[in-house]
Order: sequence, then structure tokens, then C-alpha cells
Amino acid sequence: MTKYYDPVEAMDRAALEELQLERLKDTIVNAKKSPFYEARLSGVNPEDFKSVDDIKKLPFTTKDDLRSQYPYGMLARSLDDFVRLHASSGTTGTPTAVFYTQKDLDTWADLMARSMFCCGCRRSDVLQNMSGYGLFTGGLGIHYGSERLGMLTVPAGAGNTKRQIKLIRDFNVSVLHIIPSFALYFAQKVQEEGFDTKDMPWKIALIGAEPHTEEARRKIEEMMHIKAYNSYGLSEMNGPGVAFECVHQKGMHIWEDAYIVEIINPETGEHVAEGEIGELVMTTITREGMPIIRYRTRDLTRFVPGKCECGRTHRRIDRIAGRADDMMILKGVNIYPMQIEQCLMAMPEVGQNYLIELVTEGVSDQLKVKVEIKEDYFVEDMRALQGLQKKIAKNLCNEILITPRVELCQHDSIPKAEGKAVRVIDNRDK
Ligand code: AMP
Ligand code: ZN
Repeated sequence: MTKYYDPVEAMDRAALEELQLERLKDTIVNAKKSPFYEARLSGVNPEDFKSVDDIKKLPFTTKDDLRSQYPYGMLARSLDDFVRLHASSGTTGTPTAVFYTQKDLDTWADLMARSMFCCGCRRSDVLQNMSGYGLFTGGLGIHYGSERLGMLTVPAGAGNTKRQIKLIRDFNVSVLHIIPSFALYFAQKVQEEGFDTKDMPWKIALIGAEPHTEEARRKIEEMMHIKAYNSYGLSEMNGPGVAFECVHQKGMHIWEDAYIVEIINPETGEHVAEGEIGELVMTTITREGMPIIRYRTRDLTRFVPGKCECGRTHRRIDRIAGRADDMMILKGVNIYPMQIEQCLMAMPEVGQNYLIELVTEGVSDQLKVKVEIKEDYFVEDMRALQGLQKKIAKNLCNEILITPRVELCQHDSIPKAEGKAVRVIDNRDK
């Protein structure tokens, strides 16, 4: 049996870097066919690039650049050559659109199939895609990758728990693609419908599309009796299939034959030291229709040092610690939502959902955290509840150095988003 989906996954590093350099040079030539890069890269000569590290000579591309070029300014082919578009899930401002030629869709499907194979999916598996289809890349992106790998693919889409359970049981679904916040909710629903998650046919969950902690992953694994693998991607870089965990679950392999990956200090733009956290910056080197150079993802992560036991040579990134723009500053302290999740999900009393709210009270800003409590702990005894409230506030304070106002909520009472979870609501006076 083959160990890898594509031999390139275990390519010797020197040869891989050689390949990246060649592809980078081609990308520069290709990118200059778009109105945006024609101007941005004027004066750049690919022949001046002697190693991958020379990528530092190139300017960054930001989300604002993509917005300013909306809709067609980034395209390196004529519109006739494109067959699909997707858009980012961002809810504010001008959206960003990403366009694919048929070749780009093929490359993406291959990367996706490779990613799924890497965490143990095989053509004999049946995959149920439980994420929304439409402009969001988690629908069609996962779908075509799953078919490319040869899995029987059930395009269930989002929501409708009862129907999801029926499909899973009827078709012996062994792999789920599911957003982590929904997985936590779904696990509970399955039990409420009278099924034991141990008896379900599933064995693998592909979870991604939104930040989540190791604690949330473990909770999903325990509640569902499943192995959950982290899947990272963003529409600007195709969508899912950018980086994926292998069976060892020690960081996500980021496919370096398709992307050049850098991690920078978001303030200075300089590369951080190996193993340090910074902002992920990516360059597409196999995309013909809409090449993007040195894209500032705003996602914070680090390279996982050392080699992976699976033998793949493509470096691993750690789970996303947060986004450079979702840091909250309260009373002078920097807080990331994932710190709060980590703390909550480690507590046995805490249920599946929580909501962070920032409010202004009088002259100062306050942090409120609404937390769903497991039914067993949601008791009549006021003293017990107050004790739990204090315990949660204390644990959070240990982590974030601020004592938040904790509100205990009944199971399933915090509204659930249809797609990616909304974890923070900012109601501060502007
Ligand atoms: P979109 O392009 O709208 O699908 O959003 C992409 C963004 O979702 C990324 O830039 C990340 O911020 C987030 N994201 C995607 N996958 C993950 C993941 N596995 N862990 C954490 N955040 C993720
Ligand atoms: Zn590995």
C-alpha cells in the first residue's frame, strides 16, 4: 500500500526548495499579467531570485489590496478562462472574491485529496460534507477533493441535525467534514436523539474553518468517539487543503510545493526566529488564474520544529493561535478569544458553547463571558451555581489576568451561528 497520496509529500528538502524557486520565478512572470501585479511588480526581474529566501525582496499583498482590486483586478487570465468563483466569509466591508480556472480547480482537488489521505481517509470511505455549500470554500472544495480521492461523497450541507444523523446511519458514513463549533453541538444532539455516539459508523472528523483549541478538539473526540483532524485553509489560498494534520496530530503539514510559507513579525514584517509565533504569509506557486504573492493572512501560528514521524518533509504549522486582528485590549491587557476557549473547554462542568461580550459600563470597559453549563451541573442550588461561577471567573483570571463577569447559561441557550461561530460581540461605546 502506498504511504503517500503524492510522492512530492516526502520530497527531499533541497529538491523541494529548488522546485519552489522555479515555481516562484514562473509565478512572478505570470502574476505580472494581472493589472494589480503589473504595477506592483514593475522593475522586479525573476532572474534576480537565487534562492527561496529572496522572496523577501517582494512586497506583501494584503486583504485591503484584494478589496481594492475587487472584482477582477487580480486576474492573470481573461475572464473567459475562469470557471468558478468563491468569496471570503468576512462579514464586513467589501468582500474578496477568488477565481479559479479549470486547472486551478484540478490542482486544488489534488491538494485536498492529499490532505484527506494524509489523516487516514481512503477511497473505501464515505464522506459526509456537513459544511455549507455556496460561496464558502468548505462546501465545494471539500466535495471535489473527496471525490478526487475516490470516496463516496454525501453533500449534506449545513444544519438539520436529524437528517444528518439519518444519512450517516443509512450510508455508513466514516468521515465527517464539520466545523468544530458545530461538532460540539452535534455531538450533544446525537445523544439527545437517543443514539450512543459509540455506535455511529464514523471514525474520522475533519474539523477546521475556524479557530479552535486543543481542548475543544479533545472534547469533540471524546464526545463523538472519533479522531478529529485539524484542517486549515483560506479562500485567498484556494480554501481548505492548505495545511492538514497527519495521523500523528502534531501540527499541520503545509503543502510547500503549492505555497511558499513565511512567518513574520506583524509589526516589523521581518521573519521571526524558527519556532516563534508570528503572522503566516503565503505565496501561491501553482495557481495560474489568480496568483497571490506574500499574502498577509493575519493568522498567527508558528512552525513546529523537527521532523514528523510520518516521513512527510513539508513543514508543519501549529494550530492557529488567533488572528492578528482579533486580539482584544482590555484595561491594557491583550486577550485572545482562544485563551478563553482553552480555559473553558478544560473544565468538566462547561458545555459546548460560550460567548464573549465586551461592554462599556460607566467609564470603563468590561469583559463578560456567557458560558453554557452541562445539564448535570445546572442545578437548583444557588450556592453551587455561585461557586461554579466564581470558579470559572478565577480560572479565566489566571489565564487572561482580568476577572470577567461570568454568566452561567443553560445548555443550548446561546444562539448558534449557521456557519462559522461568532465568539466575540463588541458592544463597547466607540
Ligand atoms: P475563509 O476564507 O472565509 O474561509 O476564512 C479563512 C479563515 O478562517 C482563515 O484565515 C482563518 O482565520 C480561519 N481558519 C480556517 N481554518 C482554520 C483552522 N483550522 N484553525 C483556525 N482558523 C482557521
Ligand atoms: Zn506528519
